[in-house]
Amino acid sequence: MSYRAPLNEMLFTLRHAAAIDTIAALPGLEDSNFETAQAVLEECARFNSEVIAPLNHPGDLEPATLANGEVTTSPGFRAAFEQFGAAGWQGIQHSLEHGGQGLAKLVATPCMEMLHASNMSFALAPLLTDGAIEALMVAGSEEQQARFVPNMVAGKWTGTMNLTESQAGSDLAVVRTRAVPQADGSYRIFGEKIFITYGEHDLAENIVHLVLARIEGAPPGVRGISLFVVPKFMVHGDGSLGERNDVWCASLEHKLGIKASPTAVLLFGDGKFPVGEAGAEAAGAIGYLVGKENRGLEHMFVMMNAARFAVGLQGVAVSDRAYQKALGYARERTQSRDVAGSSGPVTIIHHPDVRRMLMTMKAGTEAMRALAYFAAASSDRAAHAADGDERAQSQALYEYLVPIVKGWSTEMAVEIASLGVQIHGGMGFVEETGAAQYYRDARILPIYEGTTAIQANDLVGRKTVRDGGATARAVIAAIRATEEELGARNGEHFAVIGERLGAGRAALEAVVDFVLQEFNNDVRSVFAGSVPYLRLAGIVLGGWQMARAALAADEELLGDGVDQGFLTAKIATARFYADHLLTQAPGLGTAVVAGAAGVLALTEEQFG
Ligand SMILES: Cc1cc2nc3c(=O)[nH]c(=O)nc-3n(C[C@H](O)[C@H](O)[C@H](O)COP(=O)(O)OP(=O)(O)OC[C@H]3O[C@@H](n4cnc5c(N)ncnc54)[C@H](O)[C@@H]3O)c2cc1C
Repeated sequence: MSYRAPLNEMLFTLRHAAAIDTIAALPGLEDSNFETAQAVLEECARFNSEVIAPLNHPGDLEPATLANGEVTTSPGFRAAFEQFGAAGWQGIQHSLEHGGQGLAKLVATPCMEMLHASNMSFALAPLLTDGAIEALMVAGSEEQQARFVPNMVAGKWTGTMNLTESQAGSDLAVVRTRAVPQADGSYRIFGEKIFITYGEHDLAENIVHLVLARIEGAPPGVRGISLFVVPKFMVHGDGSLGERNDVWCASLEHKLGIKASPTAVLLFGDGKFPVGEAGAEAAGAIGYLVGKENRGLEHMFVMMNAARFAVGLQGVAVSDRAYQKALGYARERTQSRDVAGSSGPVTIIHHPDVRRMLMTMKAGTEAMRALAYFAAASSDRAAHAADGDERAQSQALYEYLVPIVKGWSTEMAVEIASLGVQIHGGMGFVEETGAAQYYRDARILPIYEGTTAIQANDLVGRKTVRDGGATARAVIAAIRATEEELGARNGEHFAVIGERLGAGRAALEAVVDFVLQEFNNDVRSVFAGSVPYLRLAGIVLGGWQMARAALAADEELLGDGVDQGFLTAKIATARFYADHLLTQAPGLGTAVVAGAAGVLALTEEQFG
């Protein structure tokens, strides 16, 4: 079975979790209304299921290859990328001025989810291009924007993110790549970057590398890092392509998953392609400073935040694809009698434990999707609200949510894809069914774009402590308001969801208090619990979104001609989430508040 976009679910989530009508009411986003979103999503679903999804499994079997510094992508990728660009999908959320469609991030989000679900490896090129466009739009000069952005928006050129070096993974303070100033205002870049996704490929005419490097003489640490734009081919003033720049791909990684995505070692400035004035060509990749000198990490954070959100969305997407696959198998595979008695073997979907696994996959995916779309709406509000306070609060909310969307949804994706394998039994462990590919692909998600620990450190430091807990407490207050609504609604489901959400919220509140109290007291004990805090926040905020969805479904049920099956399933799924996931929250709270001593108890020697 190929990919089938869950359009009903996506549209319901746009309408209720993300309140798309309020987004279309913002200045500049009038076109991002529900009707437009519906039309866009329907076309996007068709494109992805017909063009992109069929390339997923073949790409796993035939990864990108490298010969003489040139990378050939998996069969069909090149033609599909051309169609992707020509149909305008790269430009969906980018400005009209640069050739994009100017739609809200909220409308682009389900489209990107479909692309990731169809083919995570393929989707990484557009994902990084989106982030590079955003960074250039925020930090680049007008001249840089005019030179690079339109072709990126058109899907003709792609973008990359060059942070990692062998000694600089999570710790970017030790980036060593050098930038040497030239008389004409450009720089020559020298250094080796590793693990660069789509660092080299044959999908596009040009590759726009955004590179962190240190200008000669810059101070050590993060305050000495600058951001450069380094094109694979030089770009003349009229937009035409010039000579090859001095950056090339020395090798590609062999990986556990996302095999069709080329992960490159890039050598900048080693002299393979000397460049410059005719007759005076020299080693050193030519790069141009983006934004201010020594403020590169801050500028790159625009791209990193876009990519972190998008990687969280990849978690939602691969979870959904794994769920679809597992559901299909559970409906077909016959094995064992029903525990309550049956005349013969039944399909495995009849077994309560298979139901439990399917419900965990379904409920988890829906909760993550709702949280991601809710976050996208906050980002749109931050960019477009007429009122300055609303913009500032929405920005703070979005920034609080990004590490949760990234960290929680990706850790969950690994668990959900693993359940997908489990539902397939032995057939999940062999490669033919494809369930194993989702699991292998999902495994990168909690690693790249900042590991889960790095997201959790961000959640603690920049997102909770820095504003004295103001944003965390505003979220907690909003959850309380939903608890009140649940309390006022008739029916056992709502009473139980309200009770479990209340217990989860109380655990989150206690953890936020603990983090704020202990941060300046005993910082190691706070960081001992940072990942459980992130997981707790994900579970509770996901449960909050599921509760809001259940309330909305309950109201819709009163209307005429509604999809009863979908709406009652929504309420039952929210109830399942409350019983099976929200109930984990108090335990995680205890682990954070009381568990630090255990984390730090052993001496290094005692580990054996
Ligand atoms: C397939 C793939 C694609 C990638 N694409 C790109 C790309 O396009 N561009 C790019 O620049 N990079 C890319 N990366 C690099 C990726 O972002 C890094 O691998 C990641 O940031 C982790 O760095 P590291 O591998 O050096 O691990 P390390 O930093 O060595 O981490 C090892 C372990 O230590 C933990 N750790 C480290 N520091 C801390 C801390 N301060 N607190 C708590 N725990 C900590 C980590 O969580 C992890 O568990 C890619 C990597 C892969 C595998």
